[in-house]
Amino acid sequence: STSALKYRRILLKLSGEALMGREDYGIDPEVLFRLAREIQEVNRAGVQVGVVIGGGNIFRGAGLAAAGMDRVTGDHMGMLATVMNALAMQDALEKIGSYARTMSALKINEVCEDFIRRRAIRHLEKGRIAIFAAGTGNPFFTTDSAAALRAVEVGAELMLKATKVDGVYDKDPKKHADATRYEKLTYEDVITRDLKVMDTAAIALCRDYDIPLRIYDMSRSGDLMRIVQGEPIGTLVHN
Ligand code: UDP
Repeated sequence: STSALKYRRILLKLSGEALMGREDYGIDPEVLFRLAREIQEVNRAGVQVGVVIGGGNIFRGAGLAAAGMDRVTGDHMGMLATVMNALAMQDALEKIGSYARTMSALKINEVCEDFIRRRAIRHLEKGRIAIFAAGTGNPFFTTDSAAALRAVEVGAELMLKATKVDGVYDKDPKKHADATRYEKLTYEDVITRDLKVMDTAAIALCRDYDIPLRIYDMSRSGDLMRIVQGEPIGTLVHN
């Protein structure tokens, strides 16, 4: 595309569930490659892309704890699940001809690089897609918090949360026909109205360090490109 870019460096958060597609566990290769091509498209247009992927399609600490496992062990398994998803996305991006580097918050040096901030920024500047794996590296956090943290650390101009819904609604659009989508919200609105956008730690980081967040529907091809060109797709959350 020849349209001007509004954003030069973004942080894209993909949930693990996003990778499942129509499966009920694991990774649907069709969805994986479609998302990879969308990331490649914006990257080739000149956008520096950092990606954080969740692990909910494989393991979540809270779910494992509910089934009786030690919570911290469950969170370790959840973080390792994000590494597997990151490796799958790295592979898909490279299969289609892009350059990607997985950087993990937990050391697994035989498998991928560690997250080192200055090296991450270097990858981005070189046009490589940096995939930030293992969340924050700490239990009791989520990959939304990891995404907010990495967005602040690498100086992303926009954080994107790709979901199954095309933004934030005043009530659940699947249950209420009259639900209306917000085009814009402030972080203050999100907190006072207790809107389920991201967990509070993630919201607090984005608010305190002034990272705007756009929530959009990942199933709509081309929306990622339109967003980086400045189109008001989904819901924008800002200060
Ligand atoms: N997790 C963690 N610390 C982090 C990020 C993630 O312990 O900083 C664990 C946690 O158990 C979480 C799991 O990894 O449930 C998978 O991440 P998340 O639930 O955020 O994935 P998503 O919902 O985006 O698929």
